[in-house]
Amino acid sequence: MIELKNIYFTYNKKSGKNFCLNNISTKIREGDFITLLGPNGSGKSTLLKILSGYFKPESGTIKFNSKSYQDIPVKSLSKEIAVVSQKNISIFPFSIHEIVMMGRTPYLNMFGVEDSEDRKIVNEALKIMEIYHLKDKGINEVSGGEAQRAFIARALAQRPKYLLLDEPNAHLDVHHQFAIFDLLKDLNDKENITVVAVSHDLNLSLRYSKKAILLDDGKIAAEGLPTEILTGKNIDSVFKVSSDFVLTKSGSKTIIVNSTSI
Ligand code: ADP
Ligand code: MG
Repeated sequence: MIELKNIYFTYNKKSGKNFCLNNISTKIREGDFITLLGPNGSGKSTLLKILSGYFKPESGTIKFNSKSYQDIPVKSLSKEIAVVSQKNISIFPFSIHEIVMMGRTPYLNMFGVEDSEDRKIVNEALKIMEIYHLKDKGINEVSGGEAQRAFIARALAQRPKYLLLDEPNAHLDVHHQFAIFDLLKDLNDKENITVVAVSHDLNLSLRYSKKAILLDDGKIAAEGLPTEILTGKNIDSVFKVSSDFVLTKSGSKTIIVNSTSI
């Protein structure tokens, strides 16, 4: 479990009390599938960076299985938690295979040499993400969506128990948006991998996640079952839009945003 207590974070300490994360307390339990929602600038990416240990909170505590992050070596934490960040830019023309092999870094021996087990895990990750056929291509020679799938494969090769993803479907066509969330659901159901995904798609949140956290201006505006917290009232007040719910043929709820008039 990842436990956050009274987390405050600001990018520019000198600027005063403009907290980017403002008293965040929550728990990410093993087996959760959480979508992290909220308007642009509400602090989603920052919260993900706190969860991954990339940023240290200004105050408050963050613990992994009751142990404070500061007492856990980076290498150990990266065997537990993998991140797919929003801006994955590779300046060097690594091949897709090389990018995915980077996910094995925490496991390599002191000489940094990969073995057959590492190669097997990397090949599996490439196949799961349907990019095995692209493995020898340069990361800069494939489409944005294919590159995104490579970065997710890299995270999978890390064999994490927790997978944190920042807008994993941002560059993907509709088919692959569902494919990614189907895959995340599979990893969650079958491998018990805990998933925390930032998304702008409220319907994907409703359809796939077990829990949603709604951020507004650095604070948690609501958290709980997506069907319970994605109410018209919460959506209207956090996103400043007017929305309706319709029932689909299969009986599930779909959110329709009507206008931005409020
Ligand atoms: P979200 O992912 O929800 O869009 P972010 O966590 O990226 O939001 O940003 C939250 C706030 O912090 C925003 O006001 C943003 O402008 C600010 N911010 C984000 N990154 C930086 C940075 N590197 N330096 C200064 N301010 C930042
Ligand atoms: Mg963001």
